[in-house]
Amino acid sequence: MADICIIGAGSSGVTVAKALRDKGLAFDMFEKGSDIGGMWRYENDNGQSSCYASLHIDTSRPNLGYSDFPIDPSLPDFLSHAQFLRHLEAYADANGLRELVTFGTRVDRVEPDGQRWRVTLANGESRDYASVVCANGHLWDPRMPDFPGHFDGHVIHSHHYRTAAPYEGKRVLVVGLGNSAVDIAVDIARRAEHVTVSTRRSAWIMPKYLMGIPIDQWSGFLVRRLGLPVVWSRWIMSRLIRLGVGDQRRFGLPRPEHPMWREHATLSQELLPYIGHGYIDIKPDVSELRRHAVAFTDGTEADYDAIIYATGYSISFPFLSPDVFDPDRDAGRLYRRMVPPAHPGLIFAGLVQPVGPTIPLVELQGKWIAALLSGAFELPAPQDMEKEILEHLEDQKRTYLDSARYTLEVDFRAYAKQLRSDAGW
Ligand SMILES: Cc1cc2nc3c(=O)[nH]c(=O)nc-3n(C[C@H](O)[C@H](O)[C@H](O)COP(=O)(O)OP(=O)(O)OC[C@H]3O[C@@H](n4cnc5c(N)ncnc54)[C@H](O)[C@@H]3O)c2cc1C
Repeated sequence: MADICIIGAGSSGVTVAKALRDKGLAFDMFEKGSDIGGMWRYENDNGQSSCYASLHIDTSRPNLGYSDFPIDPSLPDFLSHAQFLRHLEAYADANGLRELVTFGTRVDRVEPDGQRWRVTLANGESRDYASVVCANGHLWDPRMPDFPGHFDGHVIHSHHYRTAAPYEGKRVLVVGLGNSAVDIAVDIARRAEHVTVSTRRSAWIMPKYLMGIPIDQWSGFLVRRLGLPVVWSRWIMSRLIRLGVGDQRRFGLPRPEHPMWREHATLSQELLPYIGHGYIDIKPDVSELRRHAVAFTDGTEADYDAIIYATGYSISFPFLSPDVFDPDRDAGRLYRRMVPPAHPGLIFAGLVQPVGPTIPLVELQGKWIAALLSGAFELPAPQDMEKEILEHLEDQKRTYLDSARYTLEVDFRAYAKQLRSDAGW
């Protein structure tokens, strides 16, 4: 009988399943959709995918694959969502994982029962496990801003954006300057009458390529191939980016207050040229919605037909009571970003936002979880786990901005090193 339950068969759940299976651990795995892939399955029947038709992954191919299952080198540098899904399917099939998933089965409740966990499925069935791995994704519950006033036009969150077609000939305001905001603004720009991007705090805009090389391969080259310290490589990268992009203030994008490496970068090859061609303009934060117009904090006002809020996601675990796990309180307080000290049988996979790619980092989390559950190492005492969390939070405060957007931030290299050292690889 399986004593481990995995919730979700997205890229996180699938790689955790592979790691557990490699260690000979039995598990039950429940997926509410009818297939694997989670957010990378366009129009997933789980109703939870934020994937839009033009989405391309922003991690370049060599940095994206799983360690024992690299991505076909004939594929482009930046895979489309469909190409990545096919890769994920091939990984699952090569490892016989699909047949281990119970599809079309939503987990409705996960409750502590002494030292164990009772998992209740949507069909009413309850099962009992020693450990529950939550791999249900954290980028699906739209976070909407609360601006004064009311807008009478078309309003959606980027989670529901699919194609540019509904915006043909329209005046569109995109709120936000993260990757989705910029992707969507660029996607719509040539079909809309005009697109405005509104940003509260601005962001560093980095190109996807520098001198023909994907930008995420530069830092690897400087640190791993040339052996430069991270601080030097950051300095060199910021100078190279400055050379490649110039001063973004020329495009109406204020320089963020924080240095380039304290910000999760917005990657876009097209945004600045599109501003330069007049397809997109930049405004500061929204101050008021005025039926068919929007006022901005610089005192200007403009008319719009549609607003797309690309304002991020709330972290949600609908199957956990807030007494057990309150995402606002607890998501940033996990030992090794996975285990709540008060509930060591509950394990979160994929609840990280690295500077670097998420998908291969979750592969390491999977191996760490498998090593833990197979007894290769033990969790520290609760007070030592709390200490590790406090140290992480201090480090996070020193490195990133104090914002909801950074709760899950980890440094890929440092974090991967910790996981490897715990599990003794
Ligand atoms: C627009 C966008 C672009 C991104 N681009 C990149 C990128 O370029 N590079 C990168 O590394 N990362 C990127 N990410 C982050 C990406 O979300 C993660 O990298 C990763 O793919 C998430 O996988 P996951 O398995 O954790 O979550 P998901 O893909 O969301 O999968 C979770 C699965 O759990 C299932 N599930 C949820 N609740 C339940 C339940 N109660 N019962 C049963 N099943 C349940 C869902 O149906 C789903 O299949 C992007 C995210 C977004 C939103």
